[in-house]
Amino acid sequence: MKMKKFTACLTAGVLSAALLAGCSGTPAGKAESAPDKNPAQSHSETATEDARFDDTFLAMDTVMTVSAFGPKGQAGVKAAREKIEALDALLSTGSETSEVSRLNAEGGGSLSEDTLALAKASLALYEDTDGAFDISIYPVMKLWGFDRLDDLSADNPDIPTKEELAETLALVDAGELSLDTENSVLTYGLPGMAVDFGGITKGYASDTVIHMLRDMGIRHALLNLGGNVQALGAKPDGSKWRVGIRYPDLQSSDIVGIVSVENKAVITSGDYERTIPGTDYHHIIDPATGWPVENGLRSVTIVSEDGTLADGLSTSLFVMGMEKAEEYWRSHREAFDVIFLTEDLKLHVTEGIAEDFKPADGYKMDIIS
Ligand code: AMP
Ligand code: MG
Repeated sequence: MKMKKFTACLTAGVLSAALLAGCSGTPAGKAESAPDKNPAQSHSETATEDARFDDTFLAMDTVMTVSAFGPKGQAGVKAAREKIEALDALLSTGSETSEVSRLNAEGGGSLSEDTLALAKASLALYEDTDGAFDISIYPVMKLWGFDRLDDLSADNPDIPTKEELAETLALVDAGELSLDTENSVLTYGLPGMAVDFGGITKGYASDTVIHMLRDMGIRHALLNLGGNVQALGAKPDGSKWRVGIRYPDLQSSDIVGIVSVENKAVITSGDYERTIPGTDYHHIIDPATGWPVENGLRSVTIVSEDGTLADGLSTSLFVMGMEKAEEYWRSHREAFDVIFLTEDLKLHVTEGIAEDFKPADGYKMDIIS
């Protein structure tokens, strides 16, 4: 099923030359200048700057494609996959042996370097977004069943009761998490608290890998981590990477527009990605209510040089809703741009990215300044 969607995405009309972001749960993109077969693959150290190497694999519950160009491309792709797989093993709430599961079982504990970086970024966002981004949302995610979607059916979606929700929501408060950065220790202030970095993990992974590839001497690379895209440099021919923003329905392979970027992450949060079977309830939860967010937004795409920030903010601005999110952008406009898709299927694009965004035929856009 997943692979079918992937194929549909890659072959959809305009998309043969585009890179698709947000074909959720599936790989959403492909570097456009890639030759079908790369004769340099077996002699990577002698490869030309435009020789492409790539790998597609499953990690973090999604399909990922990593592409890197040039003589170091092959080594880069290998290192990228290893790093992503290591982060997955560290951060997966679904694995009993992950660091996050150990923290959740023990009410906190010592953090490895990556988890410390994620905890710092997440708690800073919690403060800065007025609590819209809250990693302590995990007990509510579990109550809704997002940790066992395969066990739920449309006949039995198992919607929480008001009482269950109120009781569980009492555990959600990242203000009760204390982070000792000196000693790399996170302490949970309430018994039963649990954290989930799912709203920021893929952006952190892409950001970390892009820095790693740059340090290896690679100048052009593209990561597509389940529709979350991050680019190193421009394409080898100097043109920008083209990233499609998907139509907010997993059954469709359409896109609503294309954004052209270099050296940036393009990360989308949408209401269509993981839903409770038989319902429209989706996986982005308002920490103030415990309910999946319903505020007139269908998706929020953040474009930023900082992949971690882009991922954290895609989730946060989706929770805030359009009005508050616009205000937030105005006070942080140097750090990122946004493409909002509202339920009337209109696009609202912040001015920093407006010139690099093209709506698909039939879609209207306005510019936020
Ligand atoms: P994203 O697709 O980046 O918006 O991430 C969605 C994931 O973030 C969910 O599957 C949860 O793991 C987590 N999440 C949901 N709601 C929140 C929230 N309000 N703050 C932080 N993380 C959240
Ligand atoms: Mg996110």
